[in-house]
Amino acid sequence: MAPIVTIRRTFGRFWPHTRGTRLLFALGVVCAMAAAACEVASIWLFGVITDRVLATQDLNAFWGPAIAWLAFAVVAGLVSFGGQYATALGGERFLLGLRDRLYAHLQTLTPDFFDNRKLGDLMARLTDDIEAIEELVGSGLVKLITTLISVVFFAGAAFYIRWDLALVTLALVPAFLFASKVFASRFRYAAARERSSNGRMNSVIEEGLANQPLVQAYNRQETEAERLHVEGRTWLRTKMAQAKLAAMYTPSVQIIETLCLLTVIGFGAWEISAGRLTIGGLLSFAAYLAYLYPAVQSIGEIALTVSEAAAGSDRVIEVLETRPMVTDAPAPVGTPPACRGEVEFRNVTFTYPGRETPTLRDLSFTVGPGELLVCTGPSGAGKSTVAKLLLRFYDPGSGQVLLDGVDVRELPLRALRDRITVLQQESLLFSGTVKENIAYGRPDATMEEIVEAAVLADAHDFIGKLPQGYDTPVGQRGRLLSGGQRQRLAIARAMLRDAPVLVLDEPMTGLDPDTAARIMTPLRRLMAGRTTIMIAHDLSLVPENATRIDLAPEPTALAPK
Ligand code: ADP
Repeated sequence: MAPIVTIRRTFGRFWPHTRGTRLLFALGVVCAMAAAACEVASIWLFGVITDRVLATQDLNAFWGPAIAWLAFAVVAGLVSFGGQYATALGGERFLLGLRDRLYAHLQTLTPDFFDNRKLGDLMARLTDDIEAIEELVGSGLVKLITTLISVVFFAGAAFYIRWDLALVTLALVPAFLFASKVFASRFRYAAARERSSNGRMNSVIEEGLANQPLVQAYNRQETEAERLHVEGRTWLRTKMAQAKLAAMYTPSVQIIETLCLLTVIGFGAWEISAGRLTIGGLLSFAAYLAYLYPAVQSIGEIALTVSEAAAGSDRVIEVLETRPMVTDAPAPVGTPPACRGEVEFRNVTFTYPGRETPTLRDLSFTVGPGELLVCTGPSGAGKSTVAKLLLRFYDPGSGQVLLDGVDVRELPLRALRDRITVLQQESLLFSGTVKENIAYGRPDATMEEIVEAAVLADAHDFIGKLPQGYDTPVGQRGRLLSGGQRQRLAIARAMLRDAPVLVLDEPMTGLDPDTAARIMTPLRRLMAGRTTIMIAHDLSLVPENATRIDLAPEPTALAPK
């Protein structure tokens, strides 16, 4: 596990994200300060009533302080509402902003990053972890400042009543701080373990639910349930470690508190007998302490929030500091307005990060508009890697990938990808409607254009038969449609996108021979006039006029170690 980041690092990284919410947090502090001042005044009036009304049994002296007390209580209630509302709003806005930025950053990372991660764990970082950060940098900071102010107010009032008595009781305050220091590192460790266990548990759930058809077809329900149970038990242990610490912390602090109160009563009785303190004074004093100690105690608890936030921010920073494998060149060339779509691989050699042998070795080919290049070779030979290099998911180790004679590294990334349409092996759909899925690559498309694309993709007829036509939801990842229907929607999407370069990554995989043959007609329409690179291992359906390149199997794949 990466080392736990310090508070300073957390603040250094996330404080700039509070811009835009700082005014709300400041309002929260001001309101909490006003509420604490009203409480100090109310307690003061309680002492006054004890001495002037209760001790003398003079009811006339009651009304003035009583009305003032009520007024303070109302004002305290109003400002405390305003303060809590402002702090909560600031906190939620901070979360909204940080989540948006983290998600936007994740979208800049190449697919390779996601291949090496568990989605559930990434989801935990986007939810629980950023909340833990907010509880430190946002509402946690407000709480710390307002608590410190309350401590000053209540301690000041106690000093004002009897400075020597206050000194004696304040001398016991370090005991509270000692208790929280003793607990803080244990809490921090427990929080870090809970965070990562939570991430692992989410991953198991995410994978298990996403692969339900596989789980059920292979009768692996019990195994999956057991996997969750094992992670759940680990999580239970980490949560119990946290609960145990919390349960030990409260009584320890209460014992210290009782010790302080008894000291006050004993010392106070002596002060009263010496005539230096009234009973009302002692009661007010004790009431100030009743506010002061929990405030001191909650400073200790803030240290616990810090522990959780440190664990969470560690995980969020790790993602934010991951740089995309490919980025725009410092000064990308302007893309020519009309792209012909000629693709050239010139002596390309590429090795995946962490691999020792190159997947592609000295690969060269050229394919122009209206031409079809078929990439063949056994599984693992590097066929899909060709598409990944063309899309710049990776850059080659040596050699060049060129589009219309320009090295793709010199083109703006967005412009490059705008000029290429990929049809994946498994046509990827979102859970929206048929219409939304076709228009995914061109959200501004009109209904006529969508229908025209569907007609060309031979999808219009089956869409017409769906319960709500173009507005029919396709289900999670398009599961409510058949494989052939999904593929035709993907072709319609590619038609609508109208990019000059087309990459077909085994478009017939998973389809029965009849369906595959039927897909060829709309595919031919799609390929017409475009530069097409088709990745295929089944050559029976490949048009004869195609150029072929055969990729050799990986030399190390079968070689003995
Ligand atoms: P094909 O499409 O020909 O079946 P690929 O291009 O998908 O083959 O993969 C070629 C080789 O590269 C395989 O040995 C595969 O294990 C490896 N490979 C693919 N993706 C990655 C990756 N993200 N990281 C490391 N190795 C990878």
